[in-house]
Amino acid sequence: MYSAIYGGFNQTTIEEEWRKYNGDLELIRNIGEKGGYTCPFCGSNLRIRAGNVYDRHFAHWSGTSCWEAKIQEKQIEKYKRQKKREAPTHPVIRSFIYNELKAQESSHKGVYIQHGVTAKAKERWTYYPDLILTIQDKEIAISVLTNVTPEKDKKLIRSIQKQNQFYREKGLEIVWFVEDREQTLNMHEHVIHLWASEVDLAIETAEDQKWTTFLKKLKQENHYSIFNVFGYVPVNDMDTKVKSLYYVSAQEEYVTFSVNRFILDGNTEPYQGFVFNEGYDMRMGTALSIGNLSLKLSDTALEEWLRNDFQKQYEEKLVSYIETLEEKKKRKQEEQQTIEEQKSEWMKHEKEKHGEHRKKRQESRHTNPSPDNSFFARETEMLPTISKVESVYPQITEEKAERLVQKIYKGKITAEEAKNLLSYMKSNRSFCHKIEWRRFLHAQSLYQSYQMRSYLVDIEYLIRENRM
Ligand SMILES: [Zn+2]
Repeated sequence: MYSAIYGGFNQTTIEEEWRKYNGDLELIRNIGEKGGYTCPFCGSNLRIRAGNVYDRHFAHWSGTSCWEAKIQEKQIEKYKRQKKREAPTHPVIRSFIYNELKAQESSHKGVYIQHGVTAKAKERWTYYPDLILTIQDKEIAISVLTNVTPEKDKKLIRSIQKQNQFYREKGLEIVWFVEDREQTLNMHEHVIHLWASEVDLAIETAEDQKWTTFLKKLKQENHYSIFNVFGYVPVNDMDTKVKSLYYVSAQEEYVTFSVNRFILDGNTEPYQGFVFNEGYDMRMGTALSIGNLSLKLSDTALEEWLRNDFQKQYEEKLVSYIETLEEKKKRKQEEQQTIEEQKSEWMKHEKEKHGEHRKKRQESRHTNPSPDNSFFARETEMLPTISKVESVYPQITEEKAERLVQKIYKGKITAEEAKNLLSYMKSNRSFCHKIEWRRFLHAQSLYQSYQMRSYLVDIEYLIRENRM
């Protein structure tokens, strides 16, 4: 059992006792031996059992529990099985969070913190969050997740989804704290790379909603997509719903929290999102402070500053973004003009040649008259004009273009082929969507020559233009 009655009437838990006596097991044991802890159900004396940190609990002296305690113990077993995959830091972090929230109980009306399993054992829940925070008539399921790895852990993902669904059905708000990991952020293009298991851990808090409103306003006032301006290339259709992920890192004497706020880019692999900033660390007291019927989970003043800063960055980037757009437009016009010029020059040249050709034909017709064939002859005369234009601007098939894209990925495309692909893409813009953006970007590093790179950069521009 995790809970007991201390001194006859005070409800307490094993973690509270640990905190109260600074983990002095000997002292806590003595209190138990002197009858300090009694069963909240049957009133009999309880003793302390403490193996590893998971096994700290109260137990009946007699060795056999009363009926209610038995139910609770059975549910605790279930909870422990669910937490079997967690690292040894899990109960430590859980305990820090519990104690911090416990300390706030006295300063807020209607706030109390319980272990999920103690609070809901009677109802025999399918899943238990580590903690349940009650704020007046609202309940928040708080869970800590450790041992999260980049590999797609299907079992874990499924379990998180099922838990989320279960808690939601029970009417609880959900908060996950993920044990710290190295963030994979690319602030140059404002990308956060997420692990598959992290996607379902992101939540939408009041602070996230403030960001969503802020972004909508920013876009309305300036008309340009935030993603475009910051150079972020969406993989999927993206809305502007901001979500956040919370990381927790356990030190010896305290834990720190950090937050990353982003807009998720679809719900398919590779998981990524548009991130606003690098995120920041918070002390436990800031992250877990209670306000507005919820956990704050953010530094309100800092968030305000970050929004202002983001707006400033946006406005600065917008100027150069518009400039680039105009340059691109100009470049495109110039390109088009060159093509037109080349074409007309060639036509002129061909016409002259054609004239001579015809002259010769007319001469030969005199020597070998075949008037019936004249119509067909004139038709075939026109053919070279078309095929010649094609050879100057080679038209490749879509199939061929797809093969060339595969060659790009493998680092095997030649400059001539890249040129052909580029001209194909210019007249078949929808083809841009067939290129896997990430693989394409990755492949660029495989090419060294300046010419190759410049073709690839042109292709990259085309893709960006057509994807955004
Ligand atoms: Zn009992």
